[in-house]
Amino acid sequence: MNFRVVGCEGSRLEESRLVTMLLGHRVMLDAGSACSVPPRIQDGLEMVLLTHAHLDHLLELGFLLDNVIGFRKRPLTVMGSSACISIIREHYMNDRLWPDFSRITSGGVPVLEYREMPDLSWFELPGGIMAMSVPVNHPAGARGFIFRAGSSAMVYSGDTGPTEELWRRAREIPGLAMAWVECSFPDRLRDLAIASDHLCPSLARDQMTLLGRPEVPRYAFHLKKRLREETLSELGTDFLVPENGDSFLLGGP
Ligand SMILES: [Zn+2]
Ligand SMILES: [Zn+2]
Repeated sequence: MNFRVVGCEGSRLEESRLVTMLLGHRVMLDAGSACSVPPRIQDGLEMVLLTHAHLDHLLELGFLLDNVIGFRKRPLTVMGSSACISIIREHYMNDRLWPDFSRITSGGVPVLEYREMPDLSWFELPGGIMAMSVPVNHPAGARGFIFRAGSSAMVYSGDTGPTEELWRRAREIPGLAMAWVECSFPDRLRDLAIASDHLCPSLARDQMTLLGRPEVPRYAFHLKKRLREETLSELGTDFLVPENGDSFLLGGP
């Protein structure tokens, strides 16, 4: 499975890109920068999997749906926690702020179908990727994920403050090849990180201690552009920091 970084940033400024990843060609993980992918990839998606319902993670979901109308034969599945789906239905795709695309049909099928995901059990995503959703410490129905492709796996925090269950679960996973942990603020703003349910480098290190798999490469993402240099210097060599456009092969092609 190719894990491709469309956008990995925690702020929107100038040419920065909000969080959006591709899991293979058929699943998009979060949709902050969904429209940065070419139209043929937008048309071929089967699912948008959401970590949570904060705007920076679903800003362009509405525009993605608008782009693919008339170019798809099946609904696009939007999957998230029950709370996440409720927030989108109530506050975003509500026929006021943006159309309710689950009600609008094109070619006889709805443009969008919602699916709530189970927590703490494995489910299969399009393309044969296995996923486990784990509640994390952040609002808007936030979940982290463990993904398995072939014999390899990765853990992905989504947005979170200090949390435990995700790392405890990931610690036991065979073939764990990457750990992705958010890092929104530098240590100077540690109080703000804690108050807003995010992490800073010292907190991210604590999280990796909980994971307890020192051989696994760690990637810090969701950095804010104006705080990037400061945050990078504190992350040092303990973490790799992805760039927009990077891709990672997990478990073979
Ligand atoms: Zn958030
Ligand atoms: Zn965020």
